[in-house]
Amino acid sequence: MAKDSNCELCSEARISPWLFEDDRLFVAICISCNLPMIVLRDHRCNIDEDEAVTMRQILAREAKEYFGEAPFFIDEVMRQIPDHKHMHARRRPQVPNF
Ligand SMILES: [Zn+2]
Ligand SMILES: [Zn+2]
Repeated sequence: MAKDSNCELCSEARISPWLFEDDRLFVAICISCNLPMIVLRDHRCNIDEDEAVTMRQILAREAKEYFGEAPFFIDEVMRQIPDHKHMHARRRPQVPNF
């Protein structure tokens, strides 16, 4: 697995709770957003469709446990660290019921 010593995600600093980990991925609470985030344990941004499906599935499972009944969505946009694959689970704003 490739690591970049200047990359925050590669450092895997356990400064927030971790919800899940295996040899390829981990899910931790993002310290910027305070939300569950899945991170590839490899410094790259290109993943194949199998990896993308696995990341979405694991993050959705962990986020469901974390948010409980609150609706959420998986945000795959990488803003701060565009070169290391990660995805956030974010709360979905409740649409008022008119
Ligand atoms: Zn974040
Ligand atoms: Zn990295």
